[in-house]
Amino acid sequence: MTMADGELIPADAVIVAVPAWDVGGLLEHVPGTEKIAAATQKLVPIPIMSVNLYLDRPIGTTHPWETLLESDVHWVFDRTVMHGKRSSAGHLYALTTCASYDLIELRAPEVIERCMASLRSIYPLAEDARVVHAHVVPWRKATFSSRPGTGTIRPDQRTAVEGLALAGDWTRNDWPTTMEGAAQSAARAVDALRTIS
Ligand SMILES: Cc1cc2nc3c(=O)[nH]c(=O)nc-3n(C[C@H](O)[C@H](O)[C@H](O)COP(=O)(O)OP(=O)(O)OC[C@H]3O[C@@H](n4cnc5c(N)ncnc54)[C@H](O)[C@@H]3O)c2cc1C
Repeated sequence: MTMADGELIPADAVIVAVPAWDVGGLLEHVPGTEKIAAATQKLVPIPIMSVNLYLDRPIGTTHPWETLLESDVHWVFDRTVMHGKRSSAGHLYALTTCASYDLIELRAPEVIERCMASLRSIYPLAEDARVVHAHVVPWRKATFSSRPGTGTIRPDQRTAVEGLALAGDWTRNDWPTTMEGAAQSAARAVDALRTIS
């Protein structure tokens, strides 16, 4: 296995466990991996937008995390309640929006404004809340779209190259893009390598 700095590391077996979008360069010169490269091209990424929001007050959520429907914000995690202590920086909420195709194109101040508008439309106590600090975390390629046909695209953990296996949520497993799928794929990758002669 050749590292980016040219160092050669001998290995009996290798598991490539990087996201689909990062596999290309790693296997570029490995014969027999063409189908894997093709699969990584066909999977369509989906953006997720996360915002860590410190407000000067709680906004009246009733559960540690809540789901909002038909809103720019899909999930509200009350991190202050979840962590059990208030920071001097304010009351921390972590907001997450899946498939955030529109938010992902906006600049951070606009994202914060849209998120605050959503919170204000749902939580009356958010009306006068002031943003003390906000950290916008855009993930353009967060997950992939599990559209019809995806099941036939996702490659097996076992590859055509002896001693080389794949792992990752995007490889074939019983789940869509999830931590469970990533864990299952890792177990299958190890099993695939155990059976090589
Ligand atoms: C914002 C967000 C929210 C999510 N929420 C949920 C959720 O609520 N529930 C859920 O089940 N799943 C969720 N997911 C999906 C979940 O995080 C993924 O399915 C899971 O982390 C995939 O694990 P993985 O091991 O396949 O890949 P990753 O966790 O992406 O790990 C791949 C690793 O490879 C590293 N890497 C990349 N290129 C190289 C390289 N060239 N050399 C060395 N290392 C490299 C990366 O830095 C990374 O650490 C979420 C994902 C995001 C982005």
